[in-house]
Amino acid sequence: MTDQPTNKLGVHALVFSGGTSPDEVRRTAQQARAAGYDILELSLHDAVSLDVAAARVEIASAGLDVVCSRGLSFTADVSSDDPAVVAKGATLLQDSLRITHDLGGTHFTGALYSALGKYGAPLSAAGRANVVATLRELAKEAQGLGMTLGLEICNRYETNVINTAADALRLADDIGADNVLVHLDTYHMNIEEDDLVRPVLQVGDRLGYVHVGENHRGYLGSGHLDFTSFFHALATIDYRGPITFESFSSAVVSPTLSNDLAIWRNLWSDGPALAAHARRYVVDHLEASRAA
Ligand code: MN
Repeated sequence: MTDQPTNKLGVHALVFSGGTSPDEVRRTAQQARAAGYDILELSLHDAVSLDVAAARVEIASAGLDVVCSRGLSFTADVSSDDPAVVAKGATLLQDSLRITHDLGGTHFTGALYSALGKYGAPLSAAGRANVVATLRELAKEAQGLGMTLGLEICNRYETNVINTAADALRLADDIGADNVLVHLDTYHMNIEEDDLVRPVLQVGDRLGYVHVGENHRGYLGSGHLDFTSFFHALATIDYRGPITFESFSSAVVSPTLSNDLAIWRNLWSDGPALAAHARRYVVDHLEASRAA
């Protein structure tokens, strides 16, 4: 079982490289494959310099699936009260959905509902209605392309739209589309949820994507998160979807995303070593969680 986990395992590109030039995408895809992963998660924060056709070839020739993720910005934000700002956010989402499709991906996830940053006030009713209307339209478009959308639940310092599994389920209910799934991330869960178990059970078969990251976003197992309980919960709901490792260090910097995520600290320098370790860690936890 060790060599064939129950889930496809992914790694975020920012473990290896902060840029999206063809050379960087090639190296990143090769390093992800060398570390044993099945999926490369590519952030679309820097999509302007992405050569989509070339990246598709590099990722596919490394034998990897691709998942794209992103958050919005305060000037292009579908949770805004300002229709012009909402329209910009909606355009960004449509463009990103199309890029994901053109890269060969079927899953587009992240903070698709707001900027990634600290809001100075709670979400307004009008802002929430704008999120629902925009994502309902995006879900229709995704459906036509055979794609699913993920609602990644983020902590209070990165969004005011959904901070808990309960928030995400309510939002997904209001959007009301079968291809909108919930995306849990242990780093955010540690800040907002009671524990790492209840949210998994609450989301159940509406869980579509998982990020595993430590409380400080460094090496898995070097922090205080209870991954044993988390993987037990995934086994309890028989989760078979992707599990992607996320870790960020000031050693590898994206011009945009690193600042949005407040990556100021150096938690590691060797991305390939970190990635290989994380895969072993996840595989071991998956095997143990299903051994009983
Ligand atoms: Mn995440």
